[in-house]
Amino acid sequence: MKLSNLTLSTPYLSLDPIFYHEVAPTPLKNPKLVSLNPEAAKLLGIDPSHLTDAELEKLLNGTLLLKGSRPYAMCYAGHQFGYYVQRLGDGRAINLGCANGWNLQLKGSGQTLYSRQGDGRAVLRSSIREYLISEAMHGLGIPTSRALAIISSDESVAREKWERGAIVLRLSPSWIRFGSFEYFFHTNKHKELERLADFLLQESFPQFVGSENAYLKMYAEIVQRTAQMIAQWQSVGFNHGVMNTDNMSAIGITIDYGPFAFMDTFESGYICNHTDAQGRYSYDNQPRIGYWNLERLAHALSPLIPTEKLQLELDKYGDYFTTRLMELLRDKLGLDIPNENDSDLLRSLFTVMENGRIDMTPFFRILSRYDGNRETLLSMTLAPNQLNEWCDRYDERLNLNTSSVEERHKHMLRTNPKYVLKNYILQEAIDAAEKDDFTLVNDLLMLAQNPYDEHNKFERYAGVTPQQHTNLKLSCSS
Ligand code: AMP
Ligand code: MG
Repeated sequence: MKLSNLTLSTPYLSLDPIFYHEVAPTPLKNPKLVSLNPEAAKLLGIDPSHLTDAELEKLLNGTLLLKGSRPYAMCYAGHQFGYYVQRLGDGRAINLGCANGWNLQLKGSGQTLYSRQGDGRAVLRSSIREYLISEAMHGLGIPTSRALAIISSDESVAREKWERGAIVLRLSPSWIRFGSFEYFFHTNKHKELERLADFLLQESFPQFVGSENAYLKMYAEIVQRTAQMIAQWQSVGFNHGVMNTDNMSAIGITIDYGPFAFMDTFESGYICNHTDAQGRYSYDNQPRIGYWNLERLAHALSPLIPTEKLQLELDKYGDYFTTRLMELLRDKLGLDIPNENDSDLLRSLFTVMENGRIDMTPFFRILSRYDGNRETLLSMTLAPNQLNEWCDRYDERLNLNTSSVEERHKHMLRTNPKYVLKNYILQEAIDAAEKDDFTLVNDLLMLAQNPYDEHNKFERYAGVTPQQHTNLKLSCSS
């Protein structure tokens, strides 16, 4: 199908106007296509080979209105760094409508009713980061919003310095957040709260519609998905950085990428967000914060579901998280049948990695070809004796495996990515894009989508991060 034939629907606008604000995007000056993601076009049923730069530029810039589109910003609230903010909402995002189960949203397309002091814009740097990382997360099998394309412009946007304004078109099966429910709960609008729950059921949990305890089943599913998603983050060393409840998706996918990072050397207390001085959203706090956020959601849903029932579902969070994390980590080590000592073996590996300042991604990749020869692994650590002792234990454990060494290697090479988009890699693509060279953005899109494959031309991105770029913190300003 061609883009011009795509028809959008806007079911969210069937709700009362209190849920949203209808607003047209404000175009940027001289939009220029940076990158198109053909995989995302296919999700919408569009043939990417029919897409032209000109029509994509217009679509993202808000000057090409698709059939059925009625742009709107959504209203929500949220707990930011532990404190409740009673009205947030899409301050710089504008929804266009829905096609094929995907809600199209422009980010950076100008002010809305919810912009407060903000300019409604996004800069090229943060837009490239969001565009590429959502595809990278998807490539790793982690539930996430997606992105269709990105435009840059000649418009300057004031941040810590002047930067180029850009827009990314994001896609999600739902843009409803924990904070959407909090808004109606804390303003005592329980009828609207119920309408939102019904809407989310219809939109994203149709399997529960009409069944007994549908709201409770939906909450139970959100608890499970959130726990399992965060287990996936932990397994690849992903630090989200801003787990405020307005950035928590009600369908348990990763959304709202800001100062995130894939960790370089393993550091349990790593904090990617420069403004998070207390480390509330540090890597090792993520599972706890997931629980805390789900508690806020339970509280917001309490007029609809008895509190004790919500609590019983929330109580399962720890089990969901640990079970999934153990599965993922066993897979990372190629352990085929669970053994009672596995958690101890895994815990000690993370201690060894931290003590030896080991770069996590290349380490697991090299381990994926482990055949008893430890030379390369030992060269990756500042504490080789500790790693050597750990390898003795690993050897013993591998003896309990039932599959062959070849099978283990094959499995681990499909489990431990060769490429994750570390911050210094993204920064190289951003630096080039700011000089109008978008080649690396497109190359990284390909790496993001094929993280387990060998790409000889990009071998340099699979190694240990140069020390001056290791585990840096990023500013929230975007
Ligand atoms: P975030 O933590 O980036 O997801 O943003 C938190 C809130 O601030 C959301 O309500 C955003 O819509 C809003 N916001 C962030 N940046 C801007 C901006 N430049 N202009 C208007 N609103 C913004
Ligand atoms: Mg947000």
